[in-house]
Amino acid sequence: MLTQHPHTSGDVGTFYNRHTDVYDSALGGNIHVGYWDDEADDSPMREATDRLTDLVTERLAPAEGQHLIDVGCGHGSTAARIIAHHAVEITGVSVSDYQVDLANSRPQPLDLPGRASFRLADAMDLPFPDETFDGAYAIESLMHMKDKAEALGHLARVLRPGGRLVIAEHHLDGELDLPDVARMADAQAFFKFALTGDLYRRLLREAGLKVVDHTDITENVRRSYDSMTDAWREAARTDPDRRAAGEWQTAADLGAWCFAVPQLRYGLLTAVRP
Ligand code: SAH
Repeated sequence: MLTQHPHTSGDVGTFYNRHTDVYDSALGGNIHVGYWDDEADDSPMREATDRLTDLVTERLAPAEGQHLIDVGCGHGSTAARIIAHHAVEITGVSVSDYQVDLANSRPQPLDLPGRASFRLADAMDLPFPDETFDGAYAIESLMHMKDKAEALGHLARVLRPGGRLVIAEHHLDGELDLPDVARMADAQAFFKFALTGDLYRRLLREAGLKVVDHTDITENVRRSYDSMTDAWREAARTDPDRRAAGEWQTAADLGAWCFAVPQLRYGLLTAVRP
């Protein structure tokens, strides 16, 4: 378990600072869901969450020497896994200074094939010149961004022609039954998985990217949800900040409900800058 960091970068940063520790502990050292092949697969959480990283990396298929951007890099666990296996350079961005500090303080022994560095930056206003990167990935981060079109526009701009973007994220697909609509709107506002699969694909196209694959892996990631709900309950019980404790409880209640809604999906979307 990581310790709480004393400083923050504004309200949004504070939110992610607080969430980093809770998710890290619930999800075995990563801040994203795990992937299990099938019912018989009894891999522990850490292996399963690393496997999601591997699935994203396979879709990026990075060649030696390429420069990738990790959009919403968390505390660097994803990049750490990629540079342990691929001779690439990764630049990670996050809006949490706590995460950036943690990510930059991970040891990078000289014999690692790749290199990574992390900085505080907003994906909706990326501070990089056009065509800086050979590839980009965003794992459970776009969902948190208010203006997804703006973020995707920046990503398309910083990718070189032929560069790939892989997104791993929750979204909604299919019509909701009426009694579910209001509650799902609450859950969407709270967890910020605001888009449908169709809308994601449209925004990618409008950003000038060509969608080449959309794989639904909801059933493979489902086992992560109990761990997350348990972690929220535990945080609601133990967080000394009463307002935060109330938010954890809301997360646990809404999460337990919406993770069971069949229209809530988890997908891997791959797009290419033509
Ligand atoms: N991708 C990481 C972390 C996911 S948590 C992982 O898989 O482990 C969500 C991440 O999105 C956090 O790092 C948060 O700082 C980042 N994020 C949210 N809004 C952002 C924004 N506007 N710009 C950059 N990063 C953002």
